[in-house]
Amino acid sequence: MSDFLIRGVLPDLNVRFAWCGGRELCNTGVVIHDTDPLAAPVFCDALLGAALLSVLLTGREKYSVRWAYPGVIGSLLADVNARGDVRALLTQPHPATETDRVEELMGAGDGTVTVVKSEEGKVLNSGECRAGLALPSADLGLFFSLSDQIETELTTVSRFAPDPARPVRLAAGFLTQALPGCDLERFAELREKLHQAEFKDLLIAEREPFEKRLKAMLRVLAPESAGQAVYEFGPEPGFRCSCSREAMRRALLTLGEAELKKLFTEQPEPEITCNFCLQRYRFREQDFF
Ligand SMILES: [Zn+2]
Repeated sequence: MSDFLIRGVLPDLNVRFAWCGGRELCNTGVVIHDTDPLAAPVFCDALLGAALLSVLLTGREKYSVRWAYPGVIGSLLADVNARGDVRALLTQPHPATETDRVEELMGAGDGTVTVVKSEEGKVLNSGECRAGLALPSADLGLFFSLSDQIETELTTVSRFAPDPARPVRLAAGFLTQALPGCDLERFAELREKLHQAEFKDLLIAEREPFEKRLKAMLRVLAPESAGQAVYEFGPEPGFRCSCSREAMRRALLTLGEAELKKLFTEQPEPEITCNFCLQRYRFREQDFF
């Protein structure tokens, strides 16, 4: 089954929801960054969290998220746009080389989560809050609830297989957000249900059709309102990087003529690697002079 994104509302509760199936997204990310078994669940959680944010964007808007944790995992970065293009990186894809203790992975104490919303390179707004939940998707929910004061909750589930080519067996995430007029007490109840085993099992239970699964999930969240849900399919999410040869060339140009000439004297064919997708770009002097 390919990846999908469903977005909708529960109109009588004034609650927005989004459901993302992201196995291919996570497989691509995990394989590109060669994340070890300790890092992979955290990285998949960040990828699914980012994919879910796409439903909050329109047109050419983009979110760039940076999570910084005090533990061995360090920092994770993710970008997402309204078309569901997600790309992400992490500073330590192999934390198992440094620790075998799960509690040292995220570290004790708070990290930070920084979210920048931009459009065509122009910052529309940005904010930062403490990442106190030690999980990227949960800390995204915390960010929107605290910084933007929009009650938001995310949950993700991923399951792995001992297959280096396709290490992610199942991966899905769900977002709920209070819209204006939402009863916050009822939202608090719904938020808790998002983390119950019954809901999480449905999230990754690959039974067709979608509609039946979605209705079952919504019935867990809000039994009286599930029947009124309105929803549609959004763009298929995927790990798709926006880097290009021309963008890399422009980045090199910022070195200035003298530095560039020096570079080509030292290395006739320098190579630049995109940190997000690890695509390599090789340049020659005639590309610049
Ligand atoms: Zn790239």
